[in-house]
Amino acid sequence: MKRVIPWLALAVSLVFARGGVSAPGASEIEALVRDISPANIEATLKKLASFETRHVYSSDREGFGIKAAADWIREAFAALSPRLQVSFDDYELAAQGGRLSRPVTLRNVVAVLPGKFAGDKDRDRIVLVNAHYDTVARPVDRDHPRDDFDNPAPGVNDDASGVAALLEMARVLSGRAFDASIHFVAFAGEEIGLVGSTLMAARLKAEGRRIDGVLTLDMIGNIEGGNGFVDNRRMRVFADGPEDSASRQLARYAKTVAETYFPSAKIDCVFRADRFGRGGDHTPFVLEGWAGIRMMEALENYGRQHTVHDTLANMSVDYCARNTRIVAAVLASLAAAPPAPVVTSERGQPLLRRGPSGYDAQLGWNAVPRDDIAGYKVYWRKTTAPFWENQAFVGNRTEFVLDKVTIDESVFGVSAVDTDGHESLVAAYVMAPRRKSAYQLR
Ligand SMILES: [Zn+2]
Repeated sequence: MKRVIPWLALAVSLVFARGGVSAPGASEIEALVRDISPANIEATLKKLASFETRHVYSSDREGFGIKAAADWIREAFAALSPRLQVSFDDYELAAQGGRLSRPVTLRNVVAVLPGKFAGDKDRDRIVLVNAHYDTVARPVDRDHPRDDFDNPAPGVNDDASGVAALLEMARVLSGRAFDASIHFVAFAGEEIGLVGSTLMAARLKAEGRRIDGVLTLDMIGNIEGGNGFVDNRRMRVFADGPEDSASRQLARYAKTVAETYFPSAKIDCVFRADRFGRGGDHTPFVLEGWAGIRMMEALENYGRQHTVHDTLANMSVDYCARNTRIVAAVLASLAAAPPAPVVTSERGQPLLRRGPSGYDAQLGWNAVPRDDIAGYKVYWRKTTAPFWENQAFVGNRTEFVLDKVTIDESVFGVSAVDTDGHESLVAAYVMAPRRKSAYQLR
């Protein structure tokens, strides 16, 4: 076995400053994360609640409703840093039945922190972190008309908590430069069917953009389950399959980073798209072929969700801030990292062979096109294991042989590590599904 260099030791030993704005190293990510302010988060939660409702069909009055809330979010992003490119992402929707009962201008709010290759569409990579700012609530009583969209819907946990996290992360990260562009997006229309995220995902796909990871923060502040259980420590990460999907790699990455920076954190990966029968804004991006996960609280309170009781008093600012710190560490690590190596041939075949003896695991990959790659790490685990079991730093090369390890019983992957110690997502070697055959009978 080749020499193994633990990732963090490498990170700490190789951190060095560049001129001007630079990508943060491990110790700097720790400092950025510590800078996340519970007081700022609480101020955002109160402000978003002050609009009374953020339903997509709410009235447009000063200081009331979704339009005023969108204006405020846009201004709040713009006030953080001149480096953030802030805009509305608007869609004119026709009435089409169901929850889209009338025409509406759907307005996502976007803040882009440009990465190293921003403006070069072929090289720019996007990490998209998002929450939804629209709300919905059941009428306050049975006699209340169901089409009164000015019905109070404070949505403090669902999902002002995610929007507050976006603003606070944008504040602490916007002073640094990252390899990838970070898109902070406050979606509208989540509550009427993931509409804002679906339309944006389709637009970015049509534009040929590359998204390396989508992190959806939806309800990150509740600690009291409706069943009396309390949990202010765990966070759940939902990731759809199949088992070696890019979304699962993103979930494993999030868990590793979170538990590295926060040894007391408990990140529970749930290997399904979302809660049973429920949905989130990461899913439209996953359906377009990108990696996406939902990061959220451990326990939900169904008696408060989508009611007038989704208030600041019924959630925990400290837990929301703690989860924001965890997500900020994941986001900064991911955006600072180089792209993952491509582990397939030009024809799309996995570069995994049985050479040279015929009974070894011979891993090949394409060099990552960056001039600061320190080397690559190979990973492997049993097919039934949820997380990587073995890893080795193998230096700056594009092939590695694990002697006498069969490729049939393990999953293999490769990541790239740059000279600052930033590690990419792991690219897994995935076996192509066998096609169904058809035969002609005499
Ligand atoms: Zn929500």
